[in-house]
Order: sequence, then structure tokens, then C-alpha cells
Amino acid sequence: TVGAVAVDREGNIACATSTGGMLNKMEGRVGDTPCIGSGGYADNQTGAVSTTGHGEAIMKVTLARLILFHMEQGQTVEAASDVGLAYMKSRVGGLGGVVTVDPQGGWGARFNSLQMAWAAAQDDRLHYGLYAGERFSESL
Ligand code: ASP
Repeated sequence: TVGAVAVDREGNIACATSTGGMLNKMEGRVGDTPCIGSGGYADNQTGAVSTTGHGEAIMKVTLARLILFHMEQGQTVEAASDVGLAYMKSRVGGLGGVVTVDPQGGWGARFNSLQMAWAAAQDDRLHYGLYAGERFSESL
């Protein structure tokens, strides 16, 4: 997956998600990625989410919209992302990761899959990280 979420200076919020799908996928499979609310969702009032992971599980819980629901209830981007991912794991047994942003530009990169690489640009700073057994993150 390559996914992105963004907030511009005027408060417009967007998400985008691209994928090659799953290995050995069934012919004709339509995964979660193009499905609004699953592969991504954006709302200027709440924020945006782009997802990766087990598409069948993501679709069952409409993961992107679920996380935004928790943000509407007052959760931070990180808490809402963690709650959504934990719910997906416990309810339907799926793992994944998300990048999430709120209207103020607060952002999170959260996952319960084995690894996820991410990067974030805010003003003139770039942050990036990778989880692969040992977590790290840096600012430039
Ligand atoms: N969510 C994608 C799918 O199930 C896989 C991925 O790119 O994370 O098709």
C-alpha cells in the first residue's frame, strides 16, 4: 500500500490509498482500498484516514470511518487509530495500519501488523519511521 492523508492551509482534508492487493488474491477481487470508509475516508470537520492491511477485515469494520467516528467522539488521532485497529483485531481477527490526520494537522501512524513504514511532513520538518522489530523515528 501507499497511502496519504493531508490538510492544506485552508483546512481542506484529503486521503488517498493505492495497493497491489493481497498475494494470491482471487481473480476479480475488489479489496478494501477503493471502498470509501474502508481504504480511506476524509472529512474536513473530523480528519482523514488511509488504511493498509487485511482488506477483508478492514471492510468488515469500515476501519477508516470507524477511526473518524472515535475522533468525532473526542479521541486523539493516535487513540482513535489504536482503538479502531484493536477493535478490528478482536472483532474479525484482522491486522493492519493507518495514517491519520486531524483538522489541526495532528497526525498519527499506527499499526498492529508486523511492520509499517511511514513519513510525515509538517511545515519544513520531515518525520519518518519504520517498525521492523525495533521502532525508531527521526526528525529532519
Ligand atoms: N488492504 C489491501 C488489500 O487487502 C492490502 C494492502 O495493500 O495493504 O487489498
